[in-house]
Formats: sequence, C-alpha cells, structure tokens
Amino acid sequence: MSELSGKKTYDVMIIGGGGAGLTAALYTSRAKLSTVLFEKLVPGGQIASTDLVENYPGFPEGVLGPEVAQKMEAQAARYGAEIIYEEVLELSKREGRFEIKSSAGTSYAGRAVILAMGASFRTLGVPLEKQLTGKGVSYCATCDGAFFKGKKIIAVGGGDSALQEGLFLTRFAEQVTIVHRRDALRASPILQERAKKNPKISFIWDAVVDKIEGEKSVTHVLLKNVKTGAVQKVPVDGVFIFIGHDPNSGLARGFVKLNEKGYVVTDANLAASVPGVFAAGEVREGAVRQLVSACGEGCAAALAAQAYLEGHH
Ligand code: NAP
Repeated sequence: MSELSGKKTYDVMIIGGGGAGLTAALYTSRAKLSTVLFEKLVPGGQIASTDLVENYPGFPEGVLGPEVAQKMEAQAARYGAEIIYEEVLELSKREGRFEIKSSAGTSYAGRAVILAMGASFRTLGVPLEKQLTGKGVSYCATCDGAFFKGKKIIAVGGGDSALQEGLFLTRFAEQVTIVHRRDALRASPILQERAKKNPKISFIWDAVVDKIEGEKSVTHVLLKNVKTGAVQKVPVDGVFIFIGHDPNSGLARGFVKLNEKGYVVTDANLAASVPGVFAAGEVREGAVRQLVSACGEGCAAALAAQAYLEGHH
C-alpha cells in the first residue's frame, strides 16, 4: 500500500512560486480546483530580487519586484491556494496519481502537476568566486548594492541584467565597470543608451574574469582580454555577476522530456511529455524571460491542467 493512501489528493500541484507558478495557482484555485504550490525560498522567484520592474503592464511608474511578488502570493492564497515553503525533492507517478516528496519528509499527491521552477543564475566558475560570495562577489544588486556605497565595482555580462543591475548599482557605487566578453552588447537598446549616458558607468570590452582576488573580501580581479590574451589587474571592491541563467529542472530529469540544455519540452498547450504534467515560465523550452510572459504561461498551463482534469475524473 502506498504511504499516500488515505491522504488528500490535490487537483493540481504546482512546483515553484515565481510569476508563472503564482499565476497558475491563482487560476486553478479560482477555478475551484484544490491547489498546492511548493516554494523553497521566497515568493516571486527572480522578481523577488529585482528592484524596479518597469515593463509589467499597468504600472506606468514601475513596481517594486518584492511588492508585486507578495501581492501575487496574497492573490493566489485569497482563492484558497495552499502555499507550502518546502523544497520538492522527488516527483513520481504511482497508482494514477502524481506524488511529491518534500524537504520536510512529507509526501503529497495530486492529479495534475505544473512545473514552474524557473531558472537560476550562472556562476563564472573562477578561483575564489565561491569563497568570496557575500564578501564582495554577488549575483543580486538589489540584495547587496547598498553595501557598496562609494565603492568601485565591476558588473560582468552584456545582457539586460548586467545593464539594468549595473545602472541600479550606480545609486551606491562610485564607479561601475561593465566587463563583457565581446565588443557588442546583447542588452536592449533602451538600456544600452541609459548605460552609455551614465557618467558612473564605463565598459571593458572583450574581457573575461580570469581570477578574483582577496583574503577577507574582494580586492582585485584579473581580467583577460580574449583577443590579445593580455591580463590586467584591476582593483575593485565588488564583483557582480550577471551572465544568464540555467533551468531548475533537475527534479524533472528522467521524468519528463528535457531538451539538450535542460529546459522542459512542451507542446503548444504547455503539456510536457507525461500526460497531466504541464510547464510554465523560464523552466520551459522557448519561454520568453519576462515577468509578464511567465504570468501568461502560468495562466495557460492552469487552463490546460483544468481541461485535462475535466477529461480525467
Ligand atoms: P542573457 O541575456 O543570457 O545575457 C547573458 C550575458 O552574459 C551575455 O552578454 C553573455 O555574453 C554573457 N555571458 C554568458 N556566459 C558568460 C561567461 N561564462 N563569462 C562571461 N560572460 C558570459 O542573460 P540576462 O541578461 O540575465 O537576461 C536573461 C533574460 O531576461 C533575457 O531574455 C533578458 O531580456 C531578460 N531580462 C529583461 C530585463 C528587462 O526587460 N528590463 C531585465 C533583465 C533580464 P554573450 O552576449 O557574448 O553571449
């Protein structure tokens, strides 16, 4: 007999409490489907560590990331979604039901699953990066920017994150140097224009971080020019790393089909390769990495799960 016998079976189990998961929970709970959502950290996912969200429609002045995250959580909870702050360690299917085992050692059962685990920031993988994280190395400007008042920092990357967060960091830092491995930015033109106009921002092109140095905290970086091979030692107090993300799909590996980069493969209805499993947001192959699209996918996955459940009693 399964340890789940006699336990409540939820209609929908959602893994991940970012924009995609919280919107899915809002839609399924509002459709009177019993819903449980698992989140291992804080509500909002990546948006919870974003300062100002300027491109979420309805907020002409922008909205603070943590504020919109808390409101999304409250909105889902208002319609009855249960939000459980535990990490999901295992996902399986047994006796026609999906089963989840959490970090608290608890098992949960459900009739449909929405994967909304999002993605996590990449690390550089250079010496001392790990040891000096929290001691000058950071991946979150909103979290750590205020510690760098009047200091010199570098922001690594050439995408929207590097520029948006680099701009944010100029509120505190005396000087922000964007270090990019090419000589052309990937970031959107509006952010490029703002960064290039900002007197506190400068650029080092065609360069990668070879080494981070410091004993108690970061003191220097060694930057290597990828074209000439020349290495320069630059004194800095902080190294902010914004070089993209990888999907948080480890849990789903071997359970549903993933692409070669580890993103969950879905059909046009956001259904994954196992019937009853759906995916939404950044963990999904082909997703656009924006809050508004993550929310849109959360809605679409919720409606698809509802249609699936209506055909499967
Ligand atoms: P991204 O667009 O993937 O950019 C990552 C940047 O890091 C690229 O410039 C890349 O260089 C560089 N990079 C990757 N690996 C590296 C390594 N090992 N060493 C050095 N540099 C490395 O990631 P993102 O900026 O985090 O943005 C992710 C998504 O979120 C994007 O779709 C973006 O549009 C979106 N986003 C939007 C906003 C906004 O709308 N305001 C804000 C933040 C993020 P290459 O260019 O050479 O590949």
